[in-house]
Amino acid sequence: MSSGPQSVRVVVRCRPPSKEELTKATPQVVRCDEAGQVVALIRGTSSASTQQKAQTYEFDQVFGPDATQDAVYSAAAADIVGRVLQGCNGTVIAYGQTGSGKTHTMCGALGGGEAWPCAGIIPRALHHIFAYTEESQAGACISLSCSYLELYNEVLTDLLSDGASKVDILEDGKAMVLKGLTKCTVSSCGEALALLERGTVKRRTAETLLNSQSSRSHAVFIVDVCVREVTSNSELVERRGRLHLVDLAGSESASRSGAVDQRAKEAGSINRSLLTLGRVITALVEGQGHVPYRGSKLTRLLQDSLGGNASTCIIAAVAPTAQCREETASTLDYAHRARSI
Ligand code: ADP
Ligand code: MG
Repeated sequence: MSSGPQSVRVVVRCRPPSKEELTKATPQVVRCDEAGQVVALIRGTSSASTQQKAQTYEFDQVFGPDATQDAVYSAAAADIVGRVLQGCNGTVIAYGQTGSGKTHTMCGALGGGEAWPCAGIIPRALHHIFAYTEESQAGACISLSCSYLELYNEVLTDLLSDGASKVDILEDGKAMVLKGLTKCTVSSCGEALALLERGTVKRRTAETLLNSQSSRSHAVFIVDVCVREVTSNSELVERRGRLHLVDLAGSESASRSGAVDQRAKEAGSINRSLLTLGRVITALVEGQGHVPYRGSKLTRLLQDSLGGNASTCIIAAVAPTAQCREETASTLDYAHRARSI
């Protein structure tokens, strides 16, 4: 039962060089063109070589180091959030090596007020959803609940629970149920942002115990939206949509070779989840009948927000410098495969 090829939007974002990279005058090897659809990875090694070879890749949209959080939100997430408000499901996924800007893109600065220009996709999506009620002509009323979880070594952890935090995926007929997951009802954007902050703090606290676990775990923020509106002929309609916002584990973790013990186990599970995610997306864009959601916990978790009536955007985050060239090439290849049919 294939629903035909699905479109998955794939965008690339290259972060600016850090202060340290600037001080060291590290060569930069990523060029984003002005028109915003092509990114070039320069292959030349010596700075003396005048003829630099570059490999170019085309995407739905490419953002250079100067791109604002607002521009990235508009291109990568605004349509998807709009469709969630219409009762569809959607997913926005950040992919890339550690340090490439995934968390900056998804979360950015969480606080309101002066930090707002730095706010990433999750706070902007929450703001967008609450703004809908204010702008609605139909007197829309929204109920919204949030969940926040982490997937590390195939174990799901609830980032919003006070007590027990283990979560299991169960299948109830066609629906996927997350048993044990806290769902927090929120009535304002501020409340939702406070949850995001609380979960992020819990993630960091756990991380100090296992040093920098966050680069090797996937974080998923789930927003369930229910919109009630009165139509022009006075009928009450109710629409439900779910949004998944995903900050993936650093993609370099999967390719790390020679890892032993704990790291080998992590690499194996990250490898499986990122490979399966790639296969699921390929199956969707090619309109294959069989979509291998069951191949990993990550894709089982995202199943109802990938394919069907759901819309998806992948943001491939890359660093600009020569030291990252290999990982950048691998990220661009992965993202490109997700796009091409
Ligand atoms: P990741 O989550 O992929 O490991 P981060 O989002 O933590 O990477 O980014 C690494 C560093 O680079 C952080 O200090 C972050 O603030 C900074 N950074 C990333 N993207 C940008 C950007 N577009 N503009 C400015 N700083 C950025
Ligand atoms: Mg991060």
